[in-house]
Amino acid sequence: MEDEVSGSYGSYVSYWFLGVAVCVAACGGGAGETRPVAASRPSILLVTLDTTRVDAIGPGATGVETPAYNRLAARGRVFSQAYATVPETLPAHSSMMTGLYPGGHGVHENARVLSAGHPVVAEALKTSGYRTAAFVSAFVLAKRFGIARGFDVYDDELGEGKAERSSRDTTERALAHLKGVSGTEPIFMWVHYFDPHAPYEPPEPYRSRYPKDPYRAEVAAMDEQLGRLVEAFESRVAATGGRAAVVVASDHGEGLGDHGEMGHGHLLYQPTMHVPMVVVGPDVPTGSVSTPVSTRRVFHTLLHWAGQPSPESLVAATPATEVVIGEAMKPFLQYGWQPQIMTVSGSLKAILSGRTEVYDVVSDAAESRELGTAALLPAPMRAALDEYPVPSLEASASASAPIDEDARQKLASLGYVSGTVAPAVRRDAPRAADMVTLFPVIDSASTLFVRGDYVRVVPLLQQILAADPQNLDATMRLATAYSAVGKDALAVETFRRAAIITPKSQDVRLYLALHYAKGREWARAVPLLEQVLAESPERVPALEALALAREREGRLADSVALRQRLFALRPASPAELVQCGRAAMGAQQTDVAIGAFERAKAAQGAAFAQHLELGVLYLAARRLDDARRALDAVPASHPARAMALFKRAQVSVLLNEPDRAARIGAARRGADATTRALIANERLFR
Ligand SMILES: [Zn+2]
Repeated sequence: MEDEVSGSYGSYVSYWFLGVAVCVAACGGGAGETRPVAASRPSILLVTLDTTRVDAIGPGATGVETPAYNRLAARGRVFSQAYATVPETLPAHSSMMTGLYPGGHGVHENARVLSAGHPVVAEALKTSGYRTAAFVSAFVLAKRFGIARGFDVYDDELGEGKAERSSRDTTERALAHLKGVSGTEPIFMWVHYFDPHAPYEPPEPYRSRYPKDPYRAEVAAMDEQLGRLVEAFESRVAATGGRAAVVVASDHGEGLGDHGEMGHGHLLYQPTMHVPMVVVGPDVPTGSVSTPVSTRRVFHTLLHWAGQPSPESLVAATPATEVVIGEAMKPFLQYGWQPQIMTVSGSLKAILSGRTEVYDVVSDAAESRELGTAALLPAPMRAALDEYPVPSLEASASASAPIDEDARQKLASLGYVSGTVAPAVRRDAPRAADMVTLFPVIDSASTLFVRGDYVRVVPLLQQILAADPQNLDATMRLATAYSAVGKDALAVETFRRAAIITPKSQDVRLYLALHYAKGREWARAVPLLEQVLAESPERVPALEALALAREREGRLADSVALRQRLFALRPASPAELVQCGRAAMGAQQTDVAIGAFERAKAAQGAAFAQHLELGVLYLAARRLDDARRALDAVPASHPARAMALFKRAQVSVLLNEPDRAARIGAARRGADATTRALIANERLFR
């Protein structure tokens, strides 16, 4: 591994993004020998600032005061050329946690899952004796996305129905946690603030202080909380005789209209990729470092403090130089536009997106003058662009995981098509930088779509498709919108158009199948659902729809088996348990049916209404006491009261109850056409 690191630049670059395992504590071996005793290792605070531009924080910020960050900058090491790996939250954080570029860790977009196969820094710190805790402020970093591994405490509770919380709320939770921590083990705490992310709704007094710049007002409000947090953390650590280290970095910036981008995620220019980063701690030299570095090196820096030195650490007297890499694949993965890869070395920055743009970002931070020397790029930069792995269909699919529709709704920036679509690179695909006039239309359409405003979203999607007919995301959303408003012929036609854009797409088949299922066209839906499940056995919406289809076809055992697979992937609602219980009963699967009804009963309490079914099943299983209790719970108003009386009489005879004759009499008196025949033939009653 050492050889690879110090080898040629090409292999060095590959080393990172191919995700060759980085040796963390769990690897054992040499790392342990150099590990200092626990007491000498500093406690670590990592603060990530979402959506914070480099010119909106710190001593050099314009139009805003950020005293807390400035204090850290004054006593720490400022990286004046730090770069995000991706202008999107989950991928950027995944890089800080793994030390890898997205090509290595596999998370290119939000709403993916960081695979358990990649060691994360919190696991390494925990293994080496740290107490670990995380406090995040946005749903995009919720536990389910795989980023919580290694944390003893992972606080992602945002409040009912909320997708974010303020830095004030997150800080309160973090400080309350700090108060409760006892012992002298070092602490690793990660706190994530989300305030500067759109929508910009700053609290007072910052709203009034920056009336014309709500974005910067949000940054100022966050800075106040950063100050409280750092002070509380350092006091807590000092009180227990420890030392404290602090890293503050932004996950990515914000366009604010520069280069035609208001938000982030679509382009690779400086406003979203060049980020603030400061490192403070024992043995950290102070001052400013202008060597370009990637925020993925937060990983190596934290490991350094835990006693595992790394040439990638940002603490070294002379930080290792690197060819910094970045990517923005969302336009490629969602719209089929050109993939975008960035590289920075020295003062040069190159962006590959169809063609290569080159800028001198030191003399031209606004990236307003292309140098036009792409052909003369230093070899390591050229190699970084050419060798970087563009996500494939397979990689994209393996990084996705079952995400329920509710979660999809919460991820407002996320498209309907977020599962397994990854179109091939089209030679004529547009460059994102040439499509900026569409960004506001795409944003508005996304908002309306996620809100479920299907009528109003249609003309916007048509406008996108007029300019970009091959846009898969817009095509799928349009098909879905047509389906939702009952324009079935248009929906099918539009789904077919999506299938032409991306013939291999599983999502296209899935959503077309769901459209057919909605209209109860089972003969059309079923083959598509079967195909999807053959490829992805854990695709939740496909399992749901096929379970229903099998039930309608009378294939009850198949329906039950599908539901059992489904419930292993996500919790079952009581109504679904009842439905599953009925199907299992119909399939003569007594134990499965009992299990489903018992779970429904436990979940519903007094609202549970299937006592009769349960009583019948217990009787079939010869669980007579359970059968008696269940049948006694059937209310007199039950429409099948006659059956309940008959079954109760059978149980009574089998239990040899003293009142069994009276029970038989009650069954006879209450009989209906069905039970009268059954009673007449019941040998138990003779
Ligand atoms: Zn973010």
